[in-house]
Amino acid sequence: MGKRNLTSVGKTNQIKKIFFIVISLLYFNLISQAQCTLNNGSAMSSGYLASTGNTEIDNLIKSEKIKLEQFFNIKVDLKIYSGANGLAKRTCQSVSCNGSIELGKELLIFEYNKKGPSSGLSIGKYMIMSILAHEFAHIFQYAHPELRFKNSVIQEVHADMLAGWYITRSLVDNIPASDRYMLLSESWDRINKIYTDLTISFGWMGDRAYWSQQHHGNYLTRAMAFCEGWTDYKERGIKDFQYFLKWSVQTAENLIEKWDED
Ligand SMILES: [Zn+2]
Repeated sequence: MGKRNLTSVGKTNQIKKIFFIVISLLYFNLISQAQCTLNNGSAMSSGYLASTGNTEIDNLIKSEKIKLEQFFNIKVDLKIYSGANGLAKRTCQSVSCNGSIELGKELLIFEYNKKGPSSGLSIGKYMIMSILAHEFAHIFQYAHPELRFKNSVIQEVHADMLAGWYITRSLVDNIPASDRYMLLSESWDRINKIYTDLTISFGWMGDRAYWSQQHHGNYLTRAMAFCEGWTDYKERGIKDFQYFLKWSVQTAENLIEKWDED
């Protein structure tokens, strides 16, 4: 009695997912969101900070920086400033670096305190990791001119896809060995929930300023782009990053064509 089979659990999750995406769609326009900015100029912002004022956030950034530099095989000059945006620049002060990232303290604190819109779980740590992965993905793009983007929206959507793939890998890798093949275990349930929440939150960072230079993709485009990483890594089993990259620009273009309109 009460034993649910795989199909019904899957269906419930699917319905839940759709429900929360609909709810998010109703609200996303009301929430003012910080944006990531691509910047090719050399002028550095002023007012850098030594700390976010929160040791946990500082330590998370420090350890993720090392992991992301290793993963993308890049060197990044990472700075915290007092604002609420993220900025990925092609330039940096040292010769041995591929670009610089500036992260607003307000953005970091806001995201760190985030509760999952669907699960209510604390997803702050994963939001910071995802935002960092998105910015590091931009520096990776700068370091790889063979990745050609027809416009900056494609570049943004591509960075969301890369961030999604990286986070999925990190979540899956952290599942205890005992639960690795137990898809109905609590560990898998937890990462499913976290990923749904991250997807909705990335969607919220979308905008409908289709005409703007700063346009990043609308709610659905960003949510679908972030989700693409999950689908490829977890569902399709694409665990080789170079293989994932192969069609990634084309996929970003397709996602925009499919979703990025009112
Ligand atoms: Zn960006």
